[in-house]
Amino acid sequence: MTSFVIVVCSKCGGLLAAKAEQKTRICPYCGFKIVLDKSKRVAVANSAREASMILKRLKRKAAEKRRS
Ligand SMILES: [Zn+2]
Repeated sequence: MTSFVIVVCSKCGGLLAAKAEQKTRICPYCGFKIVLDKSKRVAVANSAREASMILKRLKRKAAEKRRS
């Protein structure tokens, strides 16, 4: 089973999901090449579906924090 990690882009702070076995991932927001081993993992998911659900929840939380 492929597991996924939710990481924070060290350049722009954006949240994105990547496969756990991937070494690097290009940030969809700023284009920065993220090295997954060196980036901050905020969550782990067991499927792409779960990863996107976690991502959605975290993004909503971040938006709420900005508002208050
Ligand atoms: Zn970024």
